Amino acid sequence: MADRFTLEGKTAVVTGGSRGIGLEIARAFIDAGARVIITARGEEALNQAVRSLGPNAIAKQCDNADPAQIAYTVAEAWRIGPIDILVNNAGISPFYKRAELVEVDEFSDVMDVNVRGTYFWSVEVAKRLFEANLPGSIVNVSSVVGIEPAERLGAYAASKAAINQLTKVMALEWADRQVRMNAIAPGWVDTDFTSDLMVSRHGAQIQGSIAMGRIARADEIAGAALYLASDASSYVTGTVLVVDGGWSLK
Ligand code: NAP
Repeated sequence: MADRFTLEGKTAVVTGGSRGIGLEIARAFIDAGARVIITARGEEALNQAVRSLGPNAIAKQCDNADPAQIAYTVAEAWRIGPIDILVNNAGISPFYKRAELVEVDEFSDVMDVNVRGTYFWSVEVAKRLFEANLPGSIVNVSSVVGIEPAERLGAYAASKAAINQLTKVMALEWADRQVRMNAIAPGWVDTDFTSDLMVSRHGAQIQGSIAMGRIARADEIAGAALYLASDASSYVTGTVLVVDGGWSLK
């Protein structure tokens, strides 16, 4: 059974792979034998991540808010070889405030990166897999707030709910062409994404809302990604796997 988790000979792309959850997913995939292309906007963090990941990591700059950059990056990555695994991990949640305080541009930024980015990365990779008649596994890093409501995260929660539904629709449409799509719905994870919030006046209340009493380390999300990317989940498609330390139980 153990070798069903291997990614030997596979090429994976992890968007937002320069830090946080994406970096730990890239590390787990390389440990499992894959070659990994990480993408993000910031060049310095990408280079630093590649140095920490070693020779099986490659970096490409790409802004997920721009579908033209996504198409270009997929084409460039495909020149290296077919993409067997795509992890749509890049995502933003730049504000923590009630719905009536959110500006139009702020709302649009969240949708552009989280929803449009996930949508067009998936379509660009899937089209090439179909053309080449190759199977693939796409893993979307969503959030448990796309399932259960959380205050002050309206736009972000709506973007993750959209990703959860995209996961099911694309899984349904692409199942007959051997392209699986699943999502991970993490709860609170200790990354740059949450660090300011955790030391703010809201931090203690958030920690107290988690059944396991602590937020996750980024590497605790990577196991679910490895399961969904590998043949260990060969009969799983269209699922949203919650990894939240019991947050949604409370
Ligand atoms: P993070 O530490 O802030 O890392 C985000 C990554 O995405 C970075 O590599 C960042 O690099 C990249 N990124 C941001 N905007 C981008 C854009 N426009 N185009 C391309 N790349 C972009 O965040 P994280 O906590 O690891 O979160 C990763 C994913 O997990 C997100 O989808 C997030 O919604 C989800 N998630 C996080 C938590 C949590 O508590 N941390 C909980 C549930 C779900 P650049 O800024 O250089 O582009």
